Amino acid sequence: MKNITTIKGTYDLLPPETEKWRKIENFIHDFMYLHGYAEIRTPVFEKTELFTRGVGEETDIVTKEMYSWTDMDKESTGLTLKPELTAPVVRAYIQHNLGAKSPLQRLYYMDSLFRRERPQKGRQRQFNQFGVEAIGSPHPEQDVEIISMAYFFYQSLELEKLKVRINSIGSPDVRKPYLDLLTDALIPAIHQFCSVCQTRIEKNPLRLFDCKNDACQQLMDTFAPLIFDHISDEDRSHFNTVVKLLTELEIPFFHDKKMVRGLDYYTRTTFEVTSEALGAQDALCGGGRYDKLVEVLGGQSTPAVGFAAGIERLMIALHENEKTEVRSDTDIYIIILFEEAIPSAMVIADKLRRIRGFSVMIETLRRSLKAQMRETNKRKAQFAIIMGEDEYDQNMVLVKEMKTGKQERVPIPDISLYFSVKDHHHQSDCGCCGDQE
Ligand code: AMP
Repeated sequence: MKNITTIKGTYDLLPPETEKWRKIENFIHDFMYLHGYAEIRTPVFEKTELFTRGVGEETDIVTKEMYSWTDMDKESTGLTLKPELTAPVVRAYIQHNLGAKSPLQRLYYMDSLFRRERPQKGRQRQFNQFGVEAIGSPHPEQDVEIISMAYFFYQSLELEKLKVRINSIGSPDVRKPYLDLLTDALIPAIHQFCSVCQTRIEKNPLRLFDCKNDACQQLMDTFAPLIFDHISDEDRSHFNTVVKLLTELEIPFFHDKKMVRGLDYYTRTTFEVTSEALGAQDALCGGGRYDKLVEVLGGQSTPAVGFAAGIERLMIALHENEKTEVRSDTDIYIIILFEEAIPSAMVIADKLRRIRGFSVMIETLRRSLKAQMRETNKRKAQFAIIMGEDEYDQNMVLVKEMKTGKQERVPIPDISLYFSVKDHHHQSDCGCCGDQE
C-alpha cells in the first residue's frame, strides 16, 4: 500500500523548525503590543460571499484560488476556507459593532490561509500570515504608522536588502473615469493579451496589471496609462504627506507607479516591502488603504488601512541571514537502570519541572547505561540523574554534572533543594559562593 503524504502545497513543520517559528510568533505578539495593536481571531471558514464581495469578483484569489464547497445544510450559500484576512476582520468589526466601542480599532492577526496557487519556494497552498488593520482613521499618518510598522518589523530582525515600494491608486471616484481611459487604451491591442486578460478587461481592467505573463506586462508598459497620473488633488496631497512622513522617519522607499496590488478593495495608498534575499517570490508583505471595504460589506462608511505579511517568506529570509538561534536543549536527563526506580524517577522529574522550572527528560526505552549516557550527551543536558540499584537502596541518586564529569550522591528527598542551589550558582555572580563553580 502506498504511504499517505501531505497534500500538494502543504507541509509539516517539524522540530527544531517549530521552535524557530514559536520564537518569531512570540516576537510578533510583543511587537504588536508595543504598537498598541490587539489580537483578533476569526474562524477558519466563512461564507464565500464575504470574499467575492470583499476581495473582488475578478481577482486571482476569487476566480481561481479559493477552496470553496457547498455545505450539506440546505440554506448554505457556499463556504470557503479563508484566503485572506482583511475581509474576515472587517466582517467581525461590523458584526460586533467595534466602531461604537472606539473610533479607532487597531487590530492584528496571525493565522493560516488557503489559496489554490501553483506551489513553489515561498508559495504554498496553506500558508501563514500576520497582519494589522487600523480601522477608523482617514489620515495619512495612519498609513505611515502601518508602513513604518512593516518596515521596522523587518529591520529589527536585521533583514537586509529591504525595499519599500509605495503608490497611490486614488479614491474610488477617480477610478471610474480612469478605468474607462484604461479600457480605451487597451482595447486596440487586446487580441495580443492572454485569454485571462481578454476576459478581465470588460469587468475590471485594473487586474491586467497583476497578470504574471511577461508579454502581457510588456503590452501594459506600452499601452496602459498609469493610475497615479489620474488621481485627484486630494489623493495627491494625501500621498505627498505619506511621502513626507516616511522621509522624516528615514524609511527608504521608492515610488512605483505601476503597483496596484491584486485586491479590489484598495484606495489611495498601496505598498509592499520586498527583500532581494528572497528570489522570485520577493514580497515579504503588502498592504494599503481600503476606505470603502467596511461599507461594501454592509457597515457604516469607515476608512481603514493595513498590511499582511507572509510568515514562510519571513522564515526563508531569516534563514538566509542565519540569525535565529534555537534553544531546545534539555537541562536534566534521568537515567534509569532498573525497573523499581521508575515511579521515583517520574516523581523527581515532575518536581524538578514544576518546582524548579527545569527541562527534564526521562528514559522510557529501558536502554543500557551506555545508550542512556549517549542520549544525555545528545540532548546536551547539563546534568544526568542516574538511578542505579546501589544508591537507590540507600534512598539516593547519583547526579553527574556533564561538563566536568563530577559525580555526587544526593538523597532523593533533597533533590529539589540540591538543584535550587545548583541553579543559583549557575545563574548568578552573587559573590557568596567563593570558587564553587
Ligand atoms: P497578499 O495577501 O496576497 O497581499 O499577500 C501578503 C503576503 O503574504 C505576501 O507578501 C507574501 O509574503 C505572503 N503570501 C501570499 N501568498 C502566499 C502563498 N501562497 N504562500 C506563501 N506566502 C504567501
